[in-house]
Amino acid sequence: MSNTLADNLTTQESDLAAPPGVESPEALAEYAALFRRQLELLGEDPDREGLRRTPERVARAMAFMTQGYHQDPRDVIGEAIFEESHSNMILVRDIELYSLCEHHLLPFVGKAHVAYIPDGRIIGLSKVARLVDVFARRLQVQERLTDQIAQALTDVLQPRGVGVVIEAAHFCMMMRGVEKQNSKTVTSAVLGAFRDDPKTRDEFLRLTQGTSSISI
Ligand code: ZN
Repeated sequence: MSNTLADNLTTQESDLAAPPGVESPEALAEYAALFRRQLELLGEDPDREGLRRTPERVARAMAFMTQGYHQDPRDVIGEAIFEESHSNMILVRDIELYSLCEHHLLPFVGKAHVAYIPDGRIIGLSKVARLVDVFARRLQVQERLTDQIAQALTDVLQPRGVGVVIEAAHFCMMMRGVEKQNSKTVTSAVLGAFRDDPKTRDEFLRLTQGTSSISI
């Protein structure tokens, strides 16, 4: 599935062919109908030109942004696990992260830093980023997202330890409620050697600091 949402929208705008993650065209159409009703409840006219295709676009966008429900980390990583004797920490830093908070269905965006210490096997670096997407493309709270990435990497690779730090800005705090535009939420999860060995944990946390700040 290499089509992006943008491709789908430009090339098949009137066609309800399912993007990744949507079970059936019927489900997509039902979601679009529901969103059309939401527009009416907001006092809008869903038949005016600018909104005519909006329910369909929202349905596709939501299907894309929640496709992680239908993805298994093992399938995503596939064959990209390699025998390797390297035994030092491997850190993939500043992985772009886009998710939806489950309380308001508003985005939270930021960066994930994912580290592990291999135990005879390493994983393709791009697969670490893919693993982040599998869990970010679901309705989430940042704390659970952090734990799920750490646990999935542990399950798939069985390394000596895993550390994950996520720093993110939450639109539900920026656009509504307390309206704080500059606060960031930082969460971490440490397993194995990262949890048990203070030196390893300190090295990891030091390496994740001083990263470029989030720009939106
Ligand atoms: Zn929220």
